[in-house]
Amino acid sequence: MSYTEDTLNALRRTSPAQDEFFQAVREVLASLGPLLDSHPRYRKERVIERIVEPERQILFRVAWVDDEGTVQVNKGYRVQFSSTLGPVKGGLRFHPSVNGGVIKFLGFEQILKNALTGLPLGGGKGGANFDPKGRSDQEVMRFCQAFMTELFRHVGPTVDVPAGDIGVGAREIGYLFGQYKRLTGRFDGVITGKRASWGGSLGRKEATGYGCVYFAEELLRARGDGLEGKRCAVSGAGNVAVHTVERLRSMGAKPVTVTDTTGTIHHERGIDLDLLVEVKEMRRAGLAEYARERGDARFIPVEEYPEGEHPVWSVPCDVAFPCATQNELTLADARTLVSSGCECVCEGANMPATPDAMAHLMNAKLAYGPGKAANAGGVATSQLEMSQNASMQQWGLEEVDRRLREIMANIHRSVEEAAAEFGEPGNLVFGANIAGFRKVADAMIEQGIH
Ligand code: NDP
Repeated sequence: MSYTEDTLNALRRTSPAQDEFFQAVREVLASLGPLLDSHPRYRKERVIERIVEPERQILFRVAWVDDEGTVQVNKGYRVQFSSTLGPVKGGLRFHPSVNGGVIKFLGFEQILKNALTGLPLGGGKGGANFDPKGRSDQEVMRFCQAFMTELFRHVGPTVDVPAGDIGVGAREIGYLFGQYKRLTGRFDGVITGKRASWGGSLGRKEATGYGCVYFAEELLRARGDGLEGKRCAVSGAGNVAVHTVERLRSMGAKPVTVTDTTGTIHHERGIDLDLLVEVKEMRRAGLAEYARERGDARFIPVEEYPEGEHPVWSVPCDVAFPCATQNELTLADARTLVSSGCECVCEGANMPATPDAMAHLMNAKLAYGPGKAANAGGVATSQLEMSQNASMQQWGLEEVDRRLREIMANIHRSVEEAAAEFGEPGNLVFGANIAGFRKVADAMIEQGIH
C-alpha cells in the first residue's frame, strides 16, 4: 500500500465521521505523488502526518437567550490548523450544518489557500451550528457576544485572526469585534471584514467575488480568450456570488443565474444586481421575491429540483461559478455542463464540486480554477486589512483592487508553473495542491519538529 493510502487509512480511523475533511485531504494527497517521489525528505520528516493534524482545536459551548427569554445552546468551534506561515487566518461559518468535520475541511483547505497567496498567513477555520436566519438583530448580537466571550482568549492580531464566511457578514463581524473590544479593552486587528469606517479595508467585502472573476479571466486568457461577452452561471446569492455577479457585469460578461437555499433564479436578460442586493441584503428574503418583481425571470423552488441535480447547471453557459457551498455540483451536473458546451468552471465556494464531478470536468479539459486558488482573493485582502490595521493606515479602493488583481495573477502563475513542473500542464487542481503544500512543508521542516 502506498504512503498516501496508509496516511488516509489512518486518518479514517482517527477522524471518523468527518467525511468532508476526509474528502479534502484525499484530493490533496492524490496530487502529491510526484512531489513525494522527488523529495523523500517530506516522507522522512512525516510532514503529511503532521499537516493533516490541527495544531489546536477549540470546542466550546455558546449559551445565549433568545427574544422569548428561552436559553439556547449552540456548539462553537475554532480549529487553529497551522501557524507555520503566519498567524492563523480563516473565516467563521454560522450555519446549522456546521460540525467538526466541516470546520476541519475548511481549515485544511485554508492552509494551502493562504500559502498560495504568498502572504504570511497560517490557516484555520471556525464557526457554530447557529442559524442566523429568522433571528432578530438582537438575537444575533447576543449570540455573537456569547461566541466571542469564549473565543477572545484564543485569538489576537499575531495569533489568530478570524473573518466572515457563510452566515457571518458585516453585521456579525461588528458584534463579534465589539465584544472582543469590550472584553480586552483593545482596538486592534483581531478580525477582518470590519466596516471600512472603523478599521476595515475598502474592497474586502468584494474581494472573494472579484478575485474569482480575475482568476477566471486568467484561466481564459491562458487559452487566448477572455470573459467579455460570456454567458455565466453563478450559484449562491451571498457575499461571494453577489460580488462575482457585480464584477462579471462590469467586465462585459453576462451572469444569468443566482441561487439560494430556497431556489434558483434564471434571468436571461442578465441578473439585476440592485434588485438582488435589495432582496438578499436589505430584506434578507428568499429569491422568489426577485422573480415577483421581474416578470421575465424564472424562479425554480428547491422542491422542484430533480434528484441529484441542480437546475442552475442546466442553464447553458460558457463559464460556471459555483459560489454557494461544498458539494453543490454533482457528477450529473458536471455532465450537463460539459455537454452544453461550458468552457470554464471557476470555484468561488470551497470544494463545491464532488470528487467525481471534478474528475469529469478535468477529463473534459475544461479550464478549471480550484477554490483554493480561485477564491483566495478574500483572504489575501484580509491580509491587506491586517497590514492597514498594524500600520494604522487606510488604502484607497483602487490600491486594494490593484493589489488583488496582482495577487490573483501571481497565484495563477505559480499554480500553472507547479502543474507544469510535475508533468501535468494545465491541471490547476494538481498545481494548487503541490504549490501550496510545498510552501508549507518546507517551512515546517525549517521550523523543526512541531
Ligand atoms: P453567504 O452566507 O454570504 O452566502 C452563501 C449563499 O449560498 C447564500 O445565498 C445561501 O443561501 C447559499 N447557500 C448556503 N448554503 C447552501 C446550501 N446548503 N444549499 C444551497 N445554497 C446554500 O456566504 P459566502 O458568500 O461568504 O460564502 C459562499 C462560499 O464561498 C462558501 O463556500 C465559503 O466558504 C466560500 N468562501 C467565502 C469567502 C468570503 O470571503 N466570504 C472566502 C473564500 C471562500 P441563503 O441566502 O438562502 O442562505
